[in-house]
Amino acid sequence: SIDVLIGDVEFSNVSFGYKEGIPILRNISLQARAGQTIAIVGPTGSGKTTLLNLLTRFYEVDSGEVKIDGHNIKDYRISDLRRNIGIVLQDTFLFSGSIMENIRYGKLEATDEEVIRAAKAASAHRFIKHLPNQYDTIITSGGNNLSQGQKQLLAIARAILADSRLLILDEATSSIDTKTEIEIQSGLRNLMEGRTSFVIAHRLKTIEHADLILVIRDGELTEKGTHEEL
Ligand code: ATP
Repeated sequence: SIDVLIGDVEFSNVSFGYKEGIPILRNISLQARAGQTIAIVGPTGSGKTTLLNLLTRFYEVDSGEVKIDGHNIKDYRISDLRRNIGIVLQDTFLFSGSIMENIRYGKLEATDEEVIRAAKAASAHRFIKHLPNQYDTIITSGGNNLSQGQKQLLAIARAILADSRLLILDEATSSIDTKTEIEIQSGLRNLMEGRTSFVIAHRLKTIEHADLILVIRDGELTEKGTHEEL
């Protein structure tokens, strides 16, 4: 059991299918060093999300190994593993409660000051200050009273507060106003700094800046390298 991971990740010959006899990922091998940004690209249905579902152990590999810091992830307690992996998806999980409580979900013992510091680092502070009740504003179920971009800023704030060594990010495809988009990019830069970040990438900029690009086609890793190499 571990408290804090360093963040080296290795997949060796990993294969997986959701149903027996229907392989989805075939013989995937990759290595990511602590702190690197790994962009995952490929057509819809190629297996990008599935690959990351294995890292969190939402599903178990059929064969091969996934290692973090040199240890098979099966050797970690699942709670320890998941505490070390922050997840920022396009559709953020928000519950009926205040903005403060929703950000604090990443670290329940955090003080109000720590929550606000995380929101500032995430570039979420500006929009929150413009809400009628600021950090006490109640989010209705699912966050219907917030824009898609605002929800993402909250997810970034939550992940910054949680301070996990590894990140899984699903880059937004929906159109977001320019000002919010700039804030999201700035928040993401602060979030990803120093953490091993797996990004399902839709933006060319993200791909260009990645330390490693993984191209997945039909469950196979067809290309692997930096932007210059590919
Ligand atoms: P997208 O870009 O559309 O998100 P993706 O590359 O992330 O696609 P996955 O979501 O990993 O692709 O899906 C890979 C394959 O696995 C698809 O054929 C999909 O239908 C299938 N699949 C995904 N989740 C499940 C599941 N829970 N049960 C069975 N099959 C699944």
